[in-house]
Amino acid sequence: MIEAAKLKPCPFCGRELPFLSHYDEGYWLVQCTQCFAKTLRCPTEESAADAWNRRADSEQEEMPDD
Ligand SMILES: [Zn+2]
Repeated sequence: MIEAAKLKPCPFCGRELPFLSHYDEGYWLVQCTQCFAKTLRCPTEESAADAWNRRADSEQEEMPDD
C-alpha cells in the first residue's frame, strides 16, 4: 500500500496529501482533494503514484530557458 506521504503536493494548487483511489473497474488514480486534478487511470497503485509524482516534478522543473 502506498502511503499518502509518498505522494507529492498537487502541482496545480499546492495542496498536500492527495488521495489514491481504487475503482471497481480495476484501475487506480491519484486525485487532489482541493482542485480535483487527477492522473490518468493506472493499472496499479504504484503506477498511479508514479504518474502523480512525475507530473509534480515536471511542473516544478518548468523553468525559463534563457
Ligand atoms: Zn490541487
